[in-house]
Amino acid sequence: MTRHEYEMMIGLEVHVELLTRTKMFCRCSTRFGDPPNTNVCPVCLGLPGSLPRPNREAVRLAVRAALALNCQVNLSSRFDRKNYFYPDLPKGYQISQYDEPLATGGYIEIEEPRKRIRIRRLHIEEDAGKSMHAGDDITAASYSLVDFNRSGVPLIEIVSEPDMRSPEEARQYLEKLQRILQFARVSDVKMEEGSMRVDCNVSVRPKGSDVPGVPCELKNLSSFRAVVKALSYEFERQVGLLEKGEKVVRETRHWDESKEVTAVLRAKETSEDYRYFPDPDLPRLELSPEFVDEVRNSMPELPDQIVSRYVENMGLPRYDANVLTSSPALAEFFDKCVELGAEPKTASNWIMGDLLGYMKAKGIPYEKIPLEPRSLVEMLVLIKDGVISGKIAKDILVKMIETGKDPRTIVKEEGLEQISDEESLARVVEQVIANNPSVVEEIKAGKEKAIAFLVGQVMKMTKGKANPAKVNIILKDKLTS
Ligand code: ADP
Ligand code: MG
Ligand code: ZN
Repeated sequence: MTRHEYEMMIGLEVHVELLTRTKMFCRCSTRFGDPPNTNVCPVCLGLPGSLPRPNREAVRLAVRAALALNCQVNLSSRFDRKNYFYPDLPKGYQISQYDEPLATGGYIEIEEPRKRIRIRRLHIEEDAGKSMHAGDDITAASYSLVDFNRSGVPLIEIVSEPDMRSPEEARQYLEKLQRILQFARVSDVKMEEGSMRVDCNVSVRPKGSDVPGVPCELKNLSSFRAVVKALSYEFERQVGLLEKGEKVVRETRHWDESKEVTAVLRAKETSEDYRYFPDPDLPRLELSPEFVDEVRNSMPELPDQIVSRYVENMGLPRYDANVLTSSPALAEFFDKCVELGAEPKTASNWIMGDLLGYMKAKGIPYEKIPLEPRSLVEMLVLIKDGVISGKIAKDILVKMIETGKDPRTIVKEEGLEQISDEESLARVVEQVIANNPSVVEEIKAGKEKAIAFLVGQVMKMTKGKANPAKVNIILKDKLTS
């Protein structure tokens, strides 16, 4: 068999930190970046005699996430203890949900190819603390430090079915998941800060087979790029084994970012290893149908809904709608522009082109738009009224961002008004004609395209301020008379 006769199966387990101010089972702060071990108490340090109390807001956000992902919310679910030893887990167990999770049976739709990736379950759990090992080489660290600030931070885990068939589909699933949770205001889903963490399960099997292959689990994936690379590497590795007549061993593997290979971390734990049992400190989690309805009714508008609003109500191309919904801040910015009277496609062009271009070049994240919608809309009015040219507007946009001034002030201060009065334009046009006799000859001989060159010369002489439409008319007029 050759390589292209194998197919990949990928199932993802994604952990996401919820946007609560306090932890899952105590009232310590969840703030990121505080000095180590300052947000701790007997509950999240696992001291004997302390008792957990669930955080209502965390449950609300988890239910909201479940509904946003088309899951069925189970009105009765249960907290279990997942037992294992690790220095950053002071209780010796993590409170999680095992066989009765908060929600089951959802899906996410991806675009290429258009298909549904099923979500098996979504459950609530608590985060562990954070270990830091001295030096770069974990195996050679002379000591380790533990910070319990993260211990007890509310998490949801979202487990997909193994429905993805390529690293690219996995990337789309993750991007869509991230976007949905961001718009639902459930989490800030930042891979870099660890508020979104991804484990991949991947197997290969001969194409056409209906028996799944033996999966490996990949850990330490700190970006979508790493996910794609690790999955591609793993596909080659597993196919290589099968080609040699060897077997894939079920194990947990670590992605080595610098060497770009996966390496064995440990044999795969099975659920038996964790000795799950119901947490006797916590009652069952019982939700009323009214509570779930209230969460459903207060759901923020989700990306798919916004995309169809932009496409169907505003007539935007699907491509534009997708770009504009890449962050809630961006969609809000665009909505505000339209609300202030901007023509949707015009606003979209300026946002996708010049604004995002500027932000990308300066490394400004999509949720921190450095411009007021009002300023952009005022600038569009100046273009429409013929006060400034579209070309000059590009410079004005940058100046608005960098000085915070409104466009009228910039135009006035820098004398950028477009020259539209015919007399002034005619004078410049005459000069350009006089300076370029050979081009004029060509045009008269029928090479109409050369007119563009003369228009360009007029723009150059006026430093971009001439009204190009008028220049065109005057030029044609003078050349034919
Ligand atoms: P558990 O972790 O409870 O034992 P599974 O191992 O069945 O449950 O599933 C864990 C994750 O592994 C899920 O995301 C699932 O989609 C994925 N998975 C299960 N079987 C395969 C497979 N053969 N290939 C790829 N992924 C798989
Ligand atoms: Mg698992
Ligand atoms: Zn605490």
